[in-house]
Amino acid sequence: MAAKRWIPETLFDELDFRMTYAAGRVLHEVRTKHQHLVLFEHKFFGKVLMLDGATQVTSKDEFIYHEMMTHVPILAHGQARQVLIVGGGDCGIAEEVLKHKAVERLTQVEIDPSVVEFAEQHFPEFTRPVLRNPRFDLIIDDGMNYVARTERRFDVIIVDSTDPQGPGKVLFSEGFYRACRRCLTAGGVMVTQNGVPILQGNELAAGIRKFRRLFADGYCYVAAIPTYVGGHMAMGWASDNAKLRATPVATIASRYARAGRFPTRYWTPQVHVAAFALPRFIAEHVQRAARPQRPRARSRRRN
Ligand code: SAM
Repeated sequence: MAAKRWIPETLFDELDFRMTYAAGRVLHEVRTKHQHLVLFEHKFFGKVLMLDGATQVTSKDEFIYHEMMTHVPILAHGQARQVLIVGGGDCGIAEEVLKHKAVERLTQVEIDPSVVEFAEQHFPEFTRPVLRNPRFDLIIDDGMNYVARTERRFDVIIVDSTDPQGPGKVLFSEGFYRACRRCLTAGGVMVTQNGVPILQGNELAAGIRKFRRLFADGYCYVAAIPTYVGGHMAMGWASDNAKLRATPVATIASRYARAGRFPTRYWTPQVHVAAFALPRFIAEHVQRAARPQRPRARSRRRN
């Protein structure tokens, strides 16, 4: 019997920490123009997509992240008609957005067409309800270029990006967030993939600090996604309407009812509101982001 191939997640190598999968069949492995892509079957997590050594999506737990990145901003906003996804190649987020019949148009800007092509082959549960939907349009471009140039305006922007490495790095920059703010309608909201605080706390604080320089409200909410290893996953939140994230549970529940109570497996109105109640160590990252930064000590050598 052929030896099992163990595929490591190398995202946290600098922390001497690796999660590793014993791959069943490797369905696809390629270096695209932008990144290394491997798609394989796993006996417990089902299909697993990894980009540049980081887990992107698995069949087993995708619903948690996809529902929380979608229903929280859309139902908190309450009147989202125009929605933008930056990244999101596997179309898992787009599938959730289109459950909101009141959304008139969903635009997805993805840098790497190969990710969408592979998802069309291997994640039809996401792509089938999306790619031929008249409310959906796919643009192949760097998200930074698009938000810097578009004349369109959006009520909700969902940044479903890879981590701050390779093509995804620019999507964590202040310039990108500033351009996203320009594309938001008044009172619009932007949510971002912001890493796992216990392992990427500095990244979270840095992100929220940038939000707070640009928006009236910069914060995050959390959910636990088993294959985004490390406990809570933080989803960044930025809006000029500081009341949005405090929308009461009864209001969220009635908006969900009006939206047709589409099926969910993780998100509920109660989970929505609770996701903003941050554990103390994560709240401290948010507070740290609010504190003025101490000027870096000048290195003696230069004196
Ligand atoms: N949920 C995953 C996560 O949290 O790590 C992300 C999933 S999704 C597959 C990430 C997508 O972002 C990929 O398809 C990648 O090609 C895309 N992406 C990375 N950098 C980008 C950029 N600068 N502009 C647009 N899309 C980008």
